Amino acid sequence: MKNLETNLSRISKSIAQSCERSQRKPDELTLICVSKSVDINTTEKVVQLGLKHFAENRVEQFLEKKSYFDSNDDLVWHFIGNLQRRKVKHVINELDYFHALDSLKLAEEIQKRANHKIKCFIQVNVSGETSKQGIKPTEVISFIRDLSAFDSIEVVGLMTMAPYQATELQLHHYFSELRFLQASVRQLSLTYAPCTELSMGMTNDFPIAIEEGSTFIRIGTAFFS
Ligand SMILES: *Cc1c(COP(=O)(O)O)cnc(C)c1O
Repeated sequence: MKNLETNLSRISKSIAQSCERSQRKPDELTLICVSKSVDINTTEKVVQLGLKHFAENRVEQFLEKKSYFDSNDDLVWHFIGNLQRRKVKHVINELDYFHALDSLKLAEEIQKRANHKIKCFIQVNVSGETSKQGIKPTEVISFIRDLSAFDSIEVVGLMTMAPYQATELQLHHYFSELRFLQASVRQLSLTYAPCTELSMGMTNDFPIAIEEGSTFIRIGTAFFS
């Protein structure tokens, strides 16, 4: 691993450049450090560099890190990736944002286990790759309408993962599709689905995601390689 500080300053510089290109303000954007591939020690070094947002994709590791940093109230914890229904009860009241809501069955379980309103992103499969999680773009509106029955779920935004091998043109297409979907959800003016956020952009594609309106970018590799 190279120097974390160097990596962070490279990421920050790239974010600033993308913001400038698209005439956006850097403070509209939240950088999430995806710490799933590193241990507590390395995560702590990133905390010391001033990062506040962290994401994990495994329940055990999530809980371990969350409890290790328990006394640090400034930290914000994101859960990304597949969450099995039987594990919902262990994490749902511990996380600040859940990025992978993609079925009514999962929504039911969250509703059953949550002791407060949970900020959720709907995961959308914009590319249609069968290996990707998420609901189809054409089903997003009806899915969100169906969530009205669940008063413990707040739809804060939409999330997607673009294919790793996508071209720049395809990336623009996928990310703008998510932004258009977001606009159509917002037009519904549902109180439980303000949908003000877009969680899109990873190490390989975050500059394009920023140009297309991302508000949360999820970066792992660029921190830790
Ligand atoms: C691992 C992961 C990331 C981070 O990806 P990098 O390419 O390492 O930046 C972002 N989002 C999700 C859902 C992930 O699983």
